[in-house]
Order: sequence, then C-alpha cells, then structure tokens
Amino acid sequence: METRMADMTRGIDEEEMARAGEILKRGGLVAFPTETVYGLGANALDEAAAARIYAAKGRPSDNPLIVHICEFSALDRIVREIPPEAKKLAEAFWPGPLTMIFPKTDLVPYGTTGGLDTVAVRMPNHPLALAMIRAGGGYIAAPSANTSGRPSPTRASHVADDLNGKIDMIIDGGDVGIGLESTIVDLTGDVPAILRPGYINQQMLEALLGAVPIDPALLKEDPNLRPKAPGMKYRHYAPKAGLTIVEGRPEAVRRRINELAAEEERTGGRAGIIATDESVSAYPLGIVKSVGTRTDEITISAHLYGILREFDELEVTRIYSEAFETPQLGQAIMNRLIKAAGHQIIRAE
Ligand code: AMP
Ligand code: MG
Repeated sequence: METRMADMTRGIDEEEMARAGEILKRGGLVAFPTETVYGLGANALDEAAAARIYAAKGRPSDNPLIVHICEFSALDRIVREIPPEAKKLAEAFWPGPLTMIFPKTDLVPYGTTGGLDTVAVRMPNHPLALAMIRAGGGYIAAPSANTSGRPSPTRASHVADDLNGKIDMIIDGGDVGIGLESTIVDLTGDVPAILRPGYINQQMLEALLGAVPIDPALLKEDPNLRPKAPGMKYRHYAPKAGLTIVEGRPEAVRRRINELAAEEERTGGRAGIIATDESVSAYPLGIVKSVGTRTDEITISAHLYGILREFDELEVTRIYSEAFETPQLGQAIMNRLIKAAGHQIIRAE
C-alpha cells in the first residue's frame, strides 16, 4: 500500500483532513500527532480496523489500545460508569496527556481492549488530533505509531521509518511537545492508581484526589508482580548497542561515564553518551549527544526517544546515559529509560 504523507505543519489542511476521516470510517489506518507522541489511529468501534493496528505494528494482541475522543460527552456511549474522580480529572487535565481506565460498554469491541472488560480513554490536547478524531467518527483507537519494540515516534519521519507502506496516511504536525506517552490512571479499583507515569505526575493527581499510588509492579523488577496495564510488562525497546544508566552526584556520574567510555574504546568499541546541555562538554571520548537541559525538563522528555533512535543508526557498541531524576518529569523519564536499559543501572560514588 502507498502511504500518503499529509503536511499539516502549518495548520489543518481541510481537504486532507476530510480524506483522513474517510480512510478511518472505512476501516483504514492514519498516523497523527498528539502532544505526547504520534499515534496510529483506527476506528475504535470496528474490530477489523483495530486488528489492522496490531498487524501494522506487530503488537501482541493482549496489549489493549487507548480510545481517543474529542469531547467529554463522547464518554457516555463507551463507558458504563463515570466516577466523580474522573470528572475532576477531566476538568483539570482534558484535553491533555492523561488516560483513564473505565468499565466498558458493549459498543467497544474486545478486539480494541485486548479482551478486557475495561477501556482506556484519552482526549488529546492537539488541534490536528482533535480534528482527525472528529472527522473519523469520534472514537479513534490509537497506540503509539511505531513498530512494536522500537522507541515511540516523536516526529512524522519516525513514523515513516517504521510504518511506510503499511498504513494509509501520516498527518505530519511537526515535532511533538512532551515526547513520552500519557499518564494512565485506573479508576476501576477501590482507589485510583497510576498504571503508567507521564507528564501528569503523582503530585498533580494527588492534589486533586488524595493518595494515588503507583502500580507497585512498575517500581521494581519482580517476576511475581504483574503490571495492571498489560503493555507495561513488555521490555518495549532495547537499543541495539545496549544501554547503561549511571546515577549519583553530577561530578561522580561524569567521572564514571568517562571511565566506562574509556574502557569501551580501549577494548575496540565505540561509546555513545547521553548527556545534557550542562554536561555535554565534560565528555571528551565517544559520540556525545545532549538530550536537553536540566533547567527545562520537557526538553529532555521531548528528545529522549529521538536520541535513542539516532544511536540505533550509529556504529556505537555501548550507550551510557546520565540518570534524569528531575522533579516533575523524572519518574516518567526514568520509567522509560530504565526499561530501555533492561534495568542496567550503576550508582557512581
Ligand atoms: P500505547 O498506546 O502504545 O501507549 O499503549 C497503551 C497502554 O495502555 C498499554 O500499556 C496498555 O497496556 C494500556 N492500556 C490500554 N487499555 C487498558 C486497560 N483497559 N487496562 C489497563 N491498561 C490499559
Ligand atoms: Mg507504545
């Protein structure tokens, strides 16, 4: 199939948007920008359309899809009950990078929810996403628009690299703002719980709801704990070169990464280093890239997946990354980085 690239970096192209709507209504696939990462959209109420998402991504069929809506009232048809917490969260954070889990109605096929009786719902904060959801009928299932096992796409060219020829259309809206997938909050238990950390962090949720614990399976590697969001159990992504995170005081981290890089190069390898604007000049060896600045955390989240993709293109044999335990986004950034590193973390003294 030929994948149509629609350039909307300067705003909505009405004709192309109408075409995207038609594609979605007849069961096709359209990739689109959101404020978090690019999504791969299909009609969430059409089981065959949802199945095409799994096929194009090579996604395990037990990993459910998030249903994207463009107005709060759309919830009524797809969820059985809207708890008061959901209204509060929606008022504060929708449209925005927050996904909530609800009990589903019969309208939502099991092919969309990976066989679960619950459905994940989000209203994204991006004008192109909202326009596309509306054009496509109001209920768009969308996981990240990457091949399963690769970093989520944060620009249209990442989507094309993975899915060209496998989907009908890509809406190019330029680079995304946040760069990490949405926060997922489960509202089907006795107390709300965070199933995946994201831009909307624990403090922001707790300011509205009181205690909102994090799914314990996310906090340590324990084969006996099963994450409540089925997708969180997958390794997701491992860079070809293998990644090691180094945490500790800044000077100690720099010293340790330099020692490790020197050792890697001495034994014939090539080191890749993920630094920040503050530290990039402290690494004389290897291929050094700054992911962003610690004084503006969102620059780090926005560029993390792109940098990991860049290192996959380069001939490095080992990647070393500083840890990013930053105040607002640190939990979300480290959750993704630790997964990519397969839990390889060293503490520098
Ligand atoms: P992605 O769209 O690629 O960011 O993946 C969606 C994430 O949402 C995965 O981790 C899923 O496991 C999770 N998810 C979707 N629906 C549900 C649900 N009904 N219950 C729990 N987690 C869900
Ligand atoms: Mg994904």
